[in-house]
Parts: sequence; structure tokens; C-alpha cells
Amino acid sequence: MLSPDEIRARFERVQAQVGPGVTVVAATKYVTLADMARLVEAGITVVGENRAQDLEAKHAEYGDAFTWHFIGHLQSNKVKVVNRICTLVHSLDSESAARRLEVPALVQVNLSGERSKSGVEPGEIPAYLAYDVRGLSTMPPAAATPDDSRAWFSRLRALAREHGLRELSMGTTQDFAVAAEEGATHVRVGSILFRD
Ligand SMILES: *Cc1c(COP(=O)(O)O)cnc(C)c1O
Repeated sequence: MLSPDEIRARFERVQAQVGPGVTVVAATKYVTLADMARLVEAGITVVGENRAQDLEAKHAEYGDAFTWHFIGHLQSNKVKVVNRICTLVHSLDSESAARRLEVPALVQVNLSGERSKSGVEPGEIPAYLAYDVRGLSTMPPAAATPDDSRAWFSRLRALAREHGLRELSMGTTQDFAVAAEEGATHVRVGSILFRD
């Protein structure tokens, strides 16, 4: 785990690359409960957790030090925890969760149709517009170069526009800069901030 100063430097580099209008969400699944303190020191304010259990544990310890987003697969029996703690869900992909959810969400779209990926098909998006949905998110297929993700990001932006949605959560360590060029409003980065 890097020092707070190193984390801060890396975070600032990412923020500079995407520009001030893009929210950089620190994906904290690799960060232990104890190491979350380094993020506080580094000045990171928006974090994204993948698992409700980790979210609860980290929130119990750090509470208001962060704004909490949920970025992992959301099971409907975990929605209560997310409602209590989070201000945004990036990964809504079931109507049973949508019905219970009380915080704004982005619908995760599986653009490539890979069976292994969670997310809804593009044709299912309209069913979610009855809920507090602000935008879309996606995880493109594994790519050899950042530019390989560009077409997926561009497609997600077009889909959001089609449905009158403003927010776009796309781009991780490997391709966040391309995502920002393609209109991301949120990028989710982990490795680039925390890994040696
Ligand atoms: C881990 C994770 C990220 C960040 O991935 P990195 O490659 O570490 O930047 C982004 N989004 C989701 C949903 C994740 O699980």
C-alpha cells in the first residue's frame, strides 16, 4: 500500500487528466479497513465499494470522512445497507433492487453481451426509467489498449443521450482517460491509486 502522499499525487494526476468536471471515484475493494485512513489523509473524498459487507464495515469506521458510492453487483437483499450509506449506485441491474432502492442510480449496461458480465441489455433500459435513474455505467471487455474501449464508451454515451440520461460512469485504471474523452462524468479507479 502506498503512502498518503503518493496516493494524493496519483489521485491528482488522474483528476488532472480527466478534468475538473469528472468525479474520480476511488474503487476501494483492494483497500483494507485500516488502510482507508491513508485515503482520508490523501484527501480522497469519493469512494466506491463492491460489497455491502465491506461497505458497512468501512462506513462504521470512517463514516462522514467519505461520500460512499456502490459499484459492485447489487443484490436486492443488500439494498437496505446501500440506502443507509450511499449517495449513488453505479451498478443497478435488476428491477427487484430498483424497487427497493432509495438513492439515485446508474444502470449498468452489458454492451458486449458477454455472458460472464453483469448488466442489463440496452433494450432493457426503458424499464428502469420509472426509478431514480440518472445515467448509465459499463465495464467494457478486457482490452489490449485503452483505445480498444473507445467504441464501447461512445456507444454508452449514445444510449444515455437516447434516454435523456446525463451521468456516465465508465473507465477504470486502464482506460479512464479515453472514457473522459468520450464523455464520462464518473471514472472508477483503483489500481492506479493504490498499487505499487
Ligand atoms: C475494481 C473496480 C474498478 C477499478 O478497477 P481498477 O482496474 O483497479 O482501476 C472499477 N469499477 C469496478 C466495478 C470495480 O470493481
